[in-house]
Amino acid sequence: MIYQSTRHNHETATASQAILRGIAPDGGLYTPTSIPSLNVPLHELATMSYQEVAFIVLRAFLTDFTDDELKECITQAYSQHNFDTPDITPIHSIGNKHYLELFHGQTIAFKDMALSILPYLMTVAARKNNSNKKILILTATSGDTGKAAMAGFADVPNTKIIVFYPKGGVSPIQEKQMVTQTGENTHVIGITGNFDDAQSAVKRMFTDTQLAETISEKGYQFSSANSINIGRLTPQIAYYVYAYAQLIKSGKIQAGDPINIAVPTGNFGNILAAYYAKEMGLPISTLICASNKNNVLTEFFQTRRYDKNRPFYVTNSPSMDIVLSSNLERLVFHATGNDAEKTAELMNELAHHGCYTIDEQIAHHFSNIFADYADESDILSSIKHSFDTHHYVIDPHTAVADIVTDRYIQKTQDATPIIIASTASPYKFPRSVMDALGENDTTDDLILVDKLEAYSHISQPQAVLAIKDAPIRHQSVISVEDMEKSVLNCL
Ligand SMILES: *Cc1c(COP(=O)(O)O)cnc(C)c1O
Repeated sequence: MIYQSTRHNHETATASQAILRGIAPDGGLYTPTSIPSLNVPLHELATMSYQEVAFIVLRAFLTDFTDDELKECITQAYSQHNFDTPDITPIHSIGNKHYLELFHGQTIAFKDMALSILPYLMTVAARKNNSNKKILILTATSGDTGKAAMAGFADVPNTKIIVFYPKGGVSPIQEKQMVTQTGENTHVIGITGNFDDAQSAVKRMFTDTQLAETISEKGYQFSSANSINIGRLTPQIAYYVYAYAQLIKSGKIQAGDPINIAVPTGNFGNILAAYYAKEMGLPISTLICASNKNNVLTEFFQTRRYDKNRPFYVTNSPSMDIVLSSNLERLVFHATGNDAEKTAELMNELAHHGCYTIDEQIAHHFSNIFADYADESDILSSIKHSFDTHHYVIDPHTAVADIVTDRYIQKTQDATPIIIASTASPYKFPRSVMDALGENDTTDDLILVDKLEAYSHISQPQAVLAIKDAPIRHQSVISVEDMEKSVLNCL
């Protein structure tokens, strides 16, 4: 299986090379040139554990890893040490809506699903490619990736990780989780800019050959823990396949029945994984792409025009506050029939004018993607409604998907079962949740956490208990211009 850059046909890599490099040297994203099929009868999947399903999926995509290597990575990553339930990703069903809880890992957001395995995959990839350099992970985070990546990479030999987050653009719990991170090899830096500024600067550093040489002299090579890395993306396919298997197992569907999947979307990584699951042969009819007020993707799927020239809103679903959705480039590449030249042209327009429009023929490829968005007051009503009617507490990101799902059902009367990707624990965003429930009367988010516990009767996760008295270890805040300098200072 070959991965190629979305921008040049000749820029190719094996799976392990793509994981090690993170991004292609031309600034494009390594993308599979053909999607493997599942090759296992669906009814058989229903008898498998999460780990077994993950093995089937990863083996199909990461073809230069041996079975033993993959099994070892999977066993280490999806252990009872890292997840608080043996199901790994349990489903909470309410009628036709099936909430796929992706937040039972160490940092209580779905990023744990891939970031608990990425360090193991990367370590194997380095060995396979006889790399004698230490790996320097640069990560831009909208709040959840940073913590999950550090939890995965903390004290992993021969790695160093630097996380950039938008100061003032993440929730207080998210920030506290990051700035209390332990590990000799972890660095956390706030920037006076938004997530897009951080991601763009990080991408620029990855493709700066001079900088690569400078860090190489110090014994390092760059890689990425963002969803631009296929080592992030491919493990995410597994939970959609596993979710389908769970629905068969619980008798909610029969093997072969169609389902829809709704995903609260920011950088387009999680929903792209669902798209790959569909391409592998999982019977998915419609993908529901749910955005918050930063609704650049809604506009794109409705009008064929991607336009980043718009205000950037800091919202109550901060992990989706993104205007430049990196992984859309991969979908566009597939929609053009894997035409790197055409994709490069569109991305060039985006870089120079901030917008591009795709023609109808390309857009035809997206006919089974439904896109809409929810604003902040919608989110609060949805959280309240879910609690009042079903006594189920959802986080603001999941609420975005919930609202857009309801709109989709209202519009189409489609009765197909829907999996809603539940991307974070409500405990990560206690202020918005308690605000929705009308109990937001203190400035201290950790007090709100206790109130949420009293309300929901769900115990506080270890991830929250752990930060309560943890000392702050990282305090620097810098301008976007100083990011490169700060990287060199960390070496
Ligand atoms: C990262 C994140 C998202 C957005 O996922 P993408 O893969 O960037 O589209 C949604 N919700 C939460 C809680 C997240 O952490």
